[in-house]
Amino acid sequence: MTNPLEATDAPLSHKLGHALNRVQVAMRAESWEACGQNGLNPTQGQIVVLLGQRAGGLRLRELADELAVSAPTISDSVSTLVEKGYVRKTKAKDDARAVTVRLTATGKKLVAKLDAVGETIETVLSALPESEQIQLYRTMLRMVRELQSAGKIPVARMCVTCRYFRPNVHHDPERPHHCALVDAAFGDRTLRSDCPEHETADAHLAEQNWKSFVTAQR
Ligand code: SF4
Repeated sequence: MTNPLEATDAPLSHKLGHALNRVQVAMRAESWEACGQNGLNPTQGQIVVLLGQRAGGLRLRELADELAVSAPTISDSVSTLVEKGYVRKTKAKDDARAVTVRLTATGKKLVAKLDAVGETIETVLSALPESEQIQLYRTMLRMVRELQSAGKIPVARMCVTCRYFRPNVHHDPERPHHCALVDAAFGDRTLRSDCPEHETADAHLAEQNWKSFVTAQR
């Protein structure tokens, strides 16, 4: 006999997408609240947080690429942040026509407040067993990488796209990977999702590393 629940069940991928959407609703609400408390909209808040991770500042085009928003949106948002005293614009050293955006001292103080965005989701995640957190982290990195490959989001400074990454080269199950930059072994929980030393691997190495990373699922 046909099971009525199974017969009308949606594909698992659809249900996962729906669940992710619910998580996103909570994260967005938290982001709006934290930014609103500081007189910013979420895009302006994202710019402040991103610049907090880039000591050398970013150009307008780089900000637009990193946040996957249009150039006019970035330009308007940066102008507002300049008016509020959170960022300043300077001429790029290597190109007089380009503008670099940096945080002011006031902007740096704001980063700590906005970076707490996502505290609720962090609390929920930290309640999961560590093995589940690590598995989920791998899955999320995989999704991010797929979205990057499809051109849906900008390339993040993740180990899995870095030229120094050597996945699964050690026998130690706790630390199977190697970072050739600092010459150290590390495990999945130490994989970086935004490393300042990241350098993008060429297409061949990136593909080779990715295959090695995903085929050795533990
Ligand atoms: S340099 Fe950074 S991103 Fe690259 S492998 Fe080492 S830790 Fe990972």
